[in-house]
Amino acid sequence: MFEKIALIGIGLIGSSIARAIREQKLAPHVAISTRSQVTLDKAEELGLGDSYSVDPTVVVQDADLVIICAPVGAYEAIGKAIASHLKPGAIVSDVGSVKEHVVKALQPHLPDNVHFIPGHPISGTENSGPEAGFASLFEGKWCILTPVEGTDQTALDKLTALWRAFGSDVEIMDAKHHDMVLAITSHVPHLIAYNIVGTADHLESVTKSEVIKFSAGGFRDFTRIAASDPVMWRDVFLTNKEAVMEMLGRFSEDLSMLQRAVRFGDGEMLEELFTRTRNIRRSIIDAGQETDAPDFGRHVSTPEEAEKEA
Ligand code: NAP
Repeated sequence: MFEKIALIGIGLIGSSIARAIREQKLAPHVAISTRSQVTLDKAEELGLGDSYSVDPTVVVQDADLVIICAPVGAYEAIGKAIASHLKPGAIVSDVGSVKEHVVKALQPHLPDNVHFIPGHPISGTENSGPEAGFASLFEGKWCILTPVEGTDQTALDKLTALWRAFGSDVEIMDAKHHDMVLAITSHVPHLIAYNIVGTADHLESVTKSEVIKFSAGGFRDFTRIAASDPVMWRDVFLTNKEAVMEMLGRFSEDLSMLQRAVRFGDGEMLEELFTRTRNIRRSIIDAGQETDAPDFGRHVSTPEEAEKEA
């Protein structure tokens, strides 16, 4: 499909792409670049690519596909650096969690003779770095591509075929719409998780050891999200401000209504909402985006194991 694929950034997402390319033999040459020599050495030790350089201008040479897999805050500098080294006809894509900013940060720097197609795999874990990746990360997950106006259909078809080869379903969307959808399905939930874990950390009347000890009550599931990469998430909120503010406004209004229902003991309202939200989870399971294993698929201790653990 591609002769040479260059990956800039080789953390969770970049290394998962490298592994998927390797496993499926989707390109004879994978060239890897990242900011630090330490991470580059790790990538080489793991055998993720065929050539390596801390200089992104070196790896993009002769590449027919370049995928930027770094935090979005680094995109503009990367775009400026690689622009004059890209092969004519190459596809330039990315995996960043926001899309309007990515178009603004990259497009002005790219030459007219390359195909710029931003992308975002809706898959990930709370872990970072080249060791964290795995080839099946994208299997059964969505990948959203947000082509700019006038995008060449053949280039779009090629990139779509690559993501399908990784096991993903591909959806085409406008960048602005993508940012709204992701604000409510990913960005605001992360902000809520960061906030609730932060609030628990500030509490004086409940001790830290109690928070940890009794975390299975619901808190624990927020801590998984709140353990996500700090730099990546800092950049998401710096670059998707408008959509996040819009969704946070809606969220605060609904929270005030809930607060009111709790204050005035409006059980009917609470039960009606909780019934609707339970149905949303059911639809997510039916769509294959989650399993209905008990306790969110986590290992549940038998009473004997629990006794031993205690
Ligand atoms: P990660 O595991 O922290 O890896 C980031 C990689 O980017 C590292 O190799 C890092 O290199 C490199 N990097 C950082 N700054 C750079 C720069 N200025 N120039 C070149 N390389 C640089 O992060 P990730 O989770 O793979 O996220 C990468 C991208 O994927 C982000 O844009 C994020 O929005 C998107 N994304 C993430 C997820 C997720 O769940 N994690 C899901 C979908 C999309 P060094 O170690 O050398 O600094």
